[in-house]
Amino acid sequence: MHARRQLEREELGEEKLVILGSGWAAHAMLKVIDASKFRVTVVSPVNHFAFTPMLPSAATGTVEYRSMTESVSRSNPYVEYVEASARAVDAEEGKVSLDDGTSIEYDKLVCAVGVRVNDAVRGAEHCFRLKQVEDAVALRRAISRNFEKAARTGDNRLVTYVVVGGGPTGVELAGELCDFIKDVGRRFKKLAPKVVLVHAGAQLLQQFENPQRVEALRALQAQGVDVRLGVKVSEVRDGEMVVDDNILPFGIAIWCAGTMAQPFMETFLRGLPSEAKAGRGFVAVDDWLRVRGTQDIFALGDCARLERFYPQTAQVAAQQGAFLARHLNRGYDGSTPPRLPHSSPNWEQFWVSVVRRASEAPTFDFLDLGMLAYLGGGAALSQLRFGDLPLGAYSGSAAYLLWKSVYLVKQVATRNRVLVTFDWFKTALFGRDITRL
Ligand code: FAD
Repeated sequence: MHARRQLEREELGEEKLVILGSGWAAHAMLKVIDASKFRVTVVSPVNHFAFTPMLPSAATGTVEYRSMTESVSRSNPYVEYVEASARAVDAEEGKVSLDDGTSIEYDKLVCAVGVRVNDAVRGAEHCFRLKQVEDAVALRRAISRNFEKAARTGDNRLVTYVVVGGGPTGVELAGELCDFIKDVGRRFKKLAPKVVLVHAGAQLLQQFENPQRVEALRALQAQGVDVRLGVKVSEVRDGEMVVDDNILPFGIAIWCAGTMAQPFMETFLRGLPSEAKAGRGFVAVDDWLRVRGTQDIFALGDCARLERFYPQTAQVAAQQGAFLARHLNRGYDGSTPPRLPHSSPNWEQFWVSVVRRASEAPTFDFLDLGMLAYLGGGAALSQLRFGDLPLGAYSGSAAYLLWKSVYLVKQVATRNRVLVTFDWFKTALFGRDITRL
């Protein structure tokens, strides 16, 4: 791996590998890719990776943003980073056009641009989102601004939080908001802050098994969350939203209901063969994550669709990133199915071919390790698995300890583990900080 030995610039590989995005899939690639084989360029509007499961904690001040991020240069010091968004791809010429007016040539291209929040409802611009660090920063600022303002004016609407969407993001955010209110609310005794969770489905957390969905509802309601199931938001206005013909006033609304393809995907798909179009702006890839109908373009994570269904999770995206990097490091060519080079120039390739008793590249296979969700009040849900083998479902404080341990272990570097641990101690000892910077 790159960190094991210092590479000189002239020792970097010649083949130009361009990676679009710096999220879960791209980051996993950066950790594994061999810079002596590829000259890697990362194109992304943000210069860091963010540990997205902790965005609700970052938005409410339980952890700091910088504790759960890692800059591209820290992830892999041998890659070049370009701060821009991809606008279009010329697959014939092997070129990506960027929004800063420049373009970059590639020999191999990896599209890992993720998805965006599906806020296609009238007036959704009045809501906050929670998809990237920038969103958590904006939300945290607004939360503290509204608390101060409500304390001055006595207007409880300002401290009414409406979370739209009862998936993991919405549920975790509602739980974190309860913790925040319990903690900060002690300093603003005259206020009556409130959390409302609005969800179109009949149950929360569809991804979990039924007893856990029931437990999520019970835990949130026990903390005073007003959970409204089976209702739809038809319009959002400044300070209120229409929910099934009723008006729901809010101080802060956060839209966490569903995802859709990034705008870039439209132009990207336009230049690709028809078999690459998976519908609704997603790109179809084969079992080796190659965009269908191409040889040198790959797609990973939330923006890609394999024939077999995989959920849009960090787990899938990271495993795909590591898979593709290993696959490229081993020198598989672009034929179908991908094969090792004719000569086996190193021992790794030799053993891969011996162990697999074939020169054919293995296909991507997801190893499901289960799911976790924080519910607030020191309770969580955990559903553990090892592939197809269920390892038990837990809830309450035991699951919370597990949630904390897993999130700590899963941090991408020791630096993050230390910082997150420190943040947790700081919050437990001194409470959440509402200083607005
Ligand atoms: P992303 O991680 O979204 O990365 C996309 C990257 O592409 C970003 O760096 C973005 O800036 C960049 N980009 C966008 N457009 C362009 C462009 N035009 N050109 C170049 N770059 C571009 N999953 C779990 O497994 N467990 C969890 O507990 C969990 N919790 C979550 C909590 C929250 C609040 C959120 C938002 C998500 C959570 N997820 C969780 C889902 C997980 O974050 C996603 O599945 C994962 O991020 C997908 O990885 P990705 O690399 O495909 O996309």
